[in-house]
Amino acid sequence: MTVHGHRGGRVVIVGAGAAGVQLADSLRSGGHEGAIVLIGDDPALPYQRPPLSKEYLAGPDPAVGFPLRGESFYADHGIELRRGETVAEIDAGRRHAVLDGGERVEYDHLVLATGARNRALDIPGSGLSGVMSLRTLADADRLRRRLAAAERVVVLGAGFVGLEVAAAARLRGVETVVFESAARPMARIASPVLSEYVARAHAEMGVELRCGRSVTEIVGTGGTGGTVTAVRTDQGETLETDLVLVGVGAAPADELARRAGLAVENGIRIDDRFRTGGPGIWAIGDCASFPDPYSGRRLRLESVQNASAQARTLARIMLGDDVRYDEVPWFWSNQGSIRLQIAGVRFDGDRALPLGDPATGSFSVLSFREDRLVAVESVNRPRDHVSARRALTRRLSLRPEEIVAGFDLGAHVSGTPA
Ligand SMILES: Cc1cc2nc3c(=O)[nH]c(=O)nc-3n(C[C@H](O)[C@H](O)[C@H](O)COP(=O)(O)OP(=O)(O)OC[C@H]3O[C@@H](n4cnc5c(N)ncnc54)[C@H](O)[C@@H]3O)c2cc1C
Repeated sequence: MTVHGHRGGRVVIVGAGAAGVQLADSLRSGGHEGAIVLIGDDPALPYQRPPLSKEYLAGPDPAVGFPLRGESFYADHGIELRRGETVAEIDAGRRHAVLDGGERVEYDHLVLATGARNRALDIPGSGLSGVMSLRTLADADRLRRRLAAAERVVVLGAGFVGLEVAAAARLRGVETVVFESAARPMARIASPVLSEYVARAHAEMGVELRCGRSVTEIVGTGGTGGTVTAVRTDQGETLETDLVLVGVGAAPADELARRAGLAVENGIRIDDRFRTGGPGIWAIGDCASFPDPYSGRRLRLESVQNASAQARTLARIMLGDDVRYDEVPWFWSNQGSIRLQIAGVRFDGDRALPLGDPATGSFSVLSFREDRLVAVESVNRPRDHVSARRALTRRLSLRPEEIVAGFDLGAHVSGTPA
């Protein structure tokens, strides 16, 4: 018997990304006996997104993609995968998901794992051919083909995806200019020390990073349907380019939830057990905003770890375990020679203390909030990252005064009893 009494119920999952696929897998391997229907609007076999801005662009021709599970996994585990199908409405009263063709799919539990969508650019010329964004495998294929023929790419936005694409473009020998309207790269989530290092490392890779600058117009041949030829900047400069990659962030895919009358607050609002408040309706992954027990704030994260860990915990809850979500978030990004790993979440105003010398290309930055360790950014220092995750999970006591020359995070964590 389970808390929800639905070990044999019918679970419909909307979105076949990292969260949806992991949930289907964890439910089945955890003993769920009822039907599991996984509906995703992407026609491809569900795949990992992180390689799309890294290996997929920079590496040799990817003969095979990066599937989340093998082709036969779904049928072998009794998971009905419906790819290339869009859920258009939720009929919460009757517990039906309504597909865009009108078909009704019944559920006992509905899980929204709809992810995020790239924000569009709202400047003249945004509709020109050669102005691209990157989220799906189809986007990556198009971008890869265009990069192969490009001499210069202009990237708008120095967030993770923009910088990863910039690094990959340089590895392919393409001239790369990145515009970022904020004063530093990755300003939203990185410490100033990390931003400064990233800016320098990109300059060494040959990326021209222009912070505090923006593109005001994209210029192309002909009218609608024309191809990009240049961008105009806020300084009145015209810069020729073959390609513009828009990397200005993403917004939660929460329209279904909105239309169903569920609470939305920077994503679908859930509690610490993933409940939306709608009858039998849950949400996980990039689309959901959840109460973070570490900061006491509501967070919405865009990371594979967050999507997978939430999916695994939700499966346990649906199968009857009395657990709440309290995992320490972590994230990675590879940008050319930079291997970045982040544990925890830092906010503006947190105190940042470097560990090691950024000039060596291997260092960490520890962030403190009210004398409590809240996040660790590590560049080419995987051991610190692993220790940081352990320290944050155990809420290990570490004060800023203890961070002196030669401080060893790993030794500190191992030497402090759990
Ligand atoms: C280019 C790129 C690089 C990234 N690199 C990293 C990285 O290095 N490290 C990291 O941790 N994270 C990275 N991320 C983020 C990571 O991929 C996401 O956090 C993760 O995929 C979230 O999983 P999800 O299942 O919540 O959402 P998604 O993977 O976005 O899956 C949601 C799916 O639901 C579908 N969907 C939405 N609405 C409907 C509907 N109504 N009907 C049917 N289907 C629907 C969407 O089309 C999508 O296929 C990257 C993302 C991108 C785009």
